[in-house]
Amino acid sequence: MASLAPSPARTARLWRPKRVLITAAAREWAHGRAMAERCAGLGIEVTELSGNQVRLPKQEDERKAYAEAKRTLAIVTAPSSKLKLQPIAPSADWRVDLAEGCPAHCSYCYLAGSLGGPPITRAYANLPEILAVLPGYLGQGRITSRSKARSHEGTTFEASCYTDPLALEHLTGSLSALIEHFGQWDAPVQLRFTSKFAAVEPMLGLEHGGRTRMRASVNPPAYARFEGGTDRVAERLAALRRMADAGYPVGLTVAPIIAAAGWQEAYGDLLDQAAAALGGVANLDLTAELITHRFTPGSREVLRSWYPGSDLEMEPELRAEKRTKFGSTKFVYPPEVMAELKGWFFTEVERRLPAARILYWT
Ligand code: SF4
Repeated sequence: MASLAPSPARTARLWRPKRVLITAAAREWAHGRAMAERCAGLGIEVTELSGNQVRLPKQEDERKAYAEAKRTLAIVTAPSSKLKLQPIAPSADWRVDLAEGCPAHCSYCYLAGSLGGPPITRAYANLPEILAVLPGYLGQGRITSRSKARSHEGTTFEASCYTDPLALEHLTGSLSALIEHFGQWDAPVQLRFTSKFAAVEPMLGLEHGGRTRMRASVNPPAYARFEGGTDRVAERLAALRRMADAGYPVGLTVAPIIAAAGWQEAYGDLLDQAAAALGGVANLDLTAELITHRFTPGSREVLRSWYPGSDLEMEPELRAEKRTKFGSTKFVYPPEVMAELKGWFFTEVERRLPAARILYWT
């Protein structure tokens, strides 16, 4: 019988961009210059742009344009629109963005269709401006703060909406700075981030004050083909264990839940693997967030062009069409599939991972 114990941690995958660009405005910020120095220190060539526009040489081949963009880190300043925080249901009261874009290649990536232009990863240099707006949102939450079950979390801020912040941390240091900021913020607040990466070492010794919840974003190892460029699930779970041992509240983001043949066994094994990885943690504070696979007409088109060989099912005729509150269309599993998935997950999470509190199903 296969062991459920997490495999020993190997060195987590660290993204090494082919090129780093830094804009003139980003160079005005100490954090921007520090990011450029980190990259240069890793032997990555950093190009100083004379202005603030980030453009790559035009590629006729769409695949090549995608690949070049995915291998580019741009250090820029967050536009003023990013300094006006938006609610982010059902995860958190507010969305706080440290970057936009991600170097991984998930064939369901929720960023497809929401990022404009080629998928360059942009890290924000004006971190002090981002931190400065946060107090204005204290006590203003309309998502978790209004939930009977979750209001004890305080005003919540989600940092993984437009990026995987851990994937960039060795190049930016932004996530550690944000965790320390929340650690020092003596108020009912919670920073949240989720990741498909495992390089948590820079965070283990931080004064986090219990105000940051890390979640590992996981899917069964059998679905690894849908998650190109990420760390293995066993490594993500081992990283989550290290964070829990360092006193962080932790969680699982099971996302996206994919109802492919054999899903019950695959997700059952995943939950068992998570239970084994987190077994014996003192004072474990564990949550679970359950997010089913969905797509929009726009994200489908982008993902089909980025990952033409993927066998991930994205057929509108196999799905139920739903209107978002913004009037756009998304395709989710039909009601009967959704009901079966939900029933199974609520039963099996309670049975296999009784320490976990389910925060939401969507
Ligand atoms: S790790 Fe997350 S953000 Fe990055 S490509 Fe995968 S789904 Fe997208």
